[in-house]
Amino acid sequence: MFFRGIQLKPPDYGPLHQLAAAFGSTSRVVGKQLRLESCSLHPLRPPHPMPEGDTLRRAAATLAPVLDGQEVTDIWFRMLRGHRPRAGQHIERVHSVGKHLLIEFDKNLTLRTHLGMSGTWRVLRSGASVPRSPKLRIRISTEAGTALCFSAPTIETFVRGSEPSVLANLGPDLSEDEVDLAIVVERTRAFAGSKLLAEALLDQSVAAGVGNVFKSEVAFLAGVHPFTPVSELTDEQLHELWSIAHQQLVTNRSRRFRKTTPDTVRDDHFVYDRFRMGCLRCSDAIKYAAAGDRTERSTYWCRRCQARPAR
Ligand SMILES: [Zn+2]
Repeated sequence: MFFRGIQLKPPDYGPLHQLAAAFGSTSRVVGKQLRLESCSLHPLRPPHPMPEGDTLRRAAATLAPVLDGQEVTDIWFRMLRGHRPRAGQHIERVHSVGKHLLIEFDKNLTLRTHLGMSGTWRVLRSGASVPRSPKLRIRISTEAGTALCFSAPTIETFVRGSEPSVLANLGPDLSEDEVDLAIVVERTRAFAGSKLLAEALLDQSVAAGVGNVFKSEVAFLAGVHPFTPVSELTDEQLHELWSIAHQQLVTNRSRRFRKTTPDTVRDDHFVYDRFRMGCLRCSDAIKYAAAGDRTERSTYWCRRCQARPAR
């Protein structure tokens, strides 16, 4: 992991002390973590490294105390598309839908960010100094603190009532407590009926929130090969797949570190990022297909636990 030009190579945690010195009195090293005044960094386990629906729920919950109902005292953007919110405007609320974070300002203006593969939102307490970073994209200050967004590839505003199609076409949000999975199954047939399962799970117009980590994990937990054509799956199988995705996203909303395995299992994932490692159920080597091989995104699976569909 790189941070402010210093590479952290586990298990050498010496650089953490360099970082602590760089941050001054607002930081300290505790074990393997650098703790800043308002956040902590861990060189081995970045929290929610691939933003998915659960990440965005957590981000909204973190930002709410600083932004909800507050007047903007200072605001700065890099690479904003659309009308620019100004200091003096009020923020009505911050929330997430699927993998989108929405900050609603007065005058019907909403700021949408999509974090892509590695974007993050963080919060600083009021008065804390903002770290210099070429990755900083948004800074919003209120009397309650400052919200910072790093590395987000999509930053745009729109007038409420004229939502961009990427929001207007979203399927049910699987990070909600209650989701009508029958509708999700119907949408799978309608919008992804000719796709492979791995593609359908990522299709945000079918259901919102699943990203590349949950995609592989959900297929494993259901015992279905990720490259099974949707047309070969029964409605019951699709219902179970989406039910698992829903459970996983809701469970991980409140976790600092995403974990798809039971608490009794040390590994955080069954198959994701475990290429050639032993399957936690059958010990067979985990398989991997790179992005662009069978589908647009990389995929992991166990060939024993997730048998290929008969041709
Ligand atoms: Zn297995």
